Formats: sequence, C-alpha cells, structure tokens
Amino acid sequence: MSSSNPVTLVACPTCQKKSPWSTENLDRPFCSPRCKLIDLGAWASESYSIPQQTSEEDEIFSEDLNSDPNKTFL
Ligand SMILES: [Zn+2]
Repeated sequence: MSSSNPVTLVACPTCQKKSPWSTENLDRPFCSPRCKLIDLGAWASESYSIPQQTSEEDEIFSEDLNSDPNKTFL
C-alpha cells in the first residue's frame, strides 16, 4: 500500500489558485464559494447583455409541444 495520496489540483477559474479536485470540494473547480459566485455572477451579467434570439430549433420544439396528442381527449 502506498502512503501517498495523489490529489488532482485544479486552477480556480476566478483567482487561478490551485485547489484539490475532490468530491468533498463542492465548489470545484473553484477554490471557494466566493469564487464560484463571482464566476456565476459574471456569466449571468454576460448572458443578460446578449439579446434573446429565437432559433429555428426552438420553434420546432415548441410546435412539437403544442401538438401533444394527450390533449386531444379534451
Ligand atoms: Zn478562487
């Protein structure tokens, strides 16, 4: 048995600090909940600045939902 316990270190996307990648680290790949919130906040504000676009795929999908065969019994 080896006494060494190899831990994968990942660089925090927010502050670049190395933190262990383990199931106990709920904030991975971030080093702390603070860095996680900072990144999520930046991501959210970015997406809000992008105008919503309706793609063809979305329209086809919603059409599919409207023609739900289950509601024909009404
Ligand atoms: Zn960090």
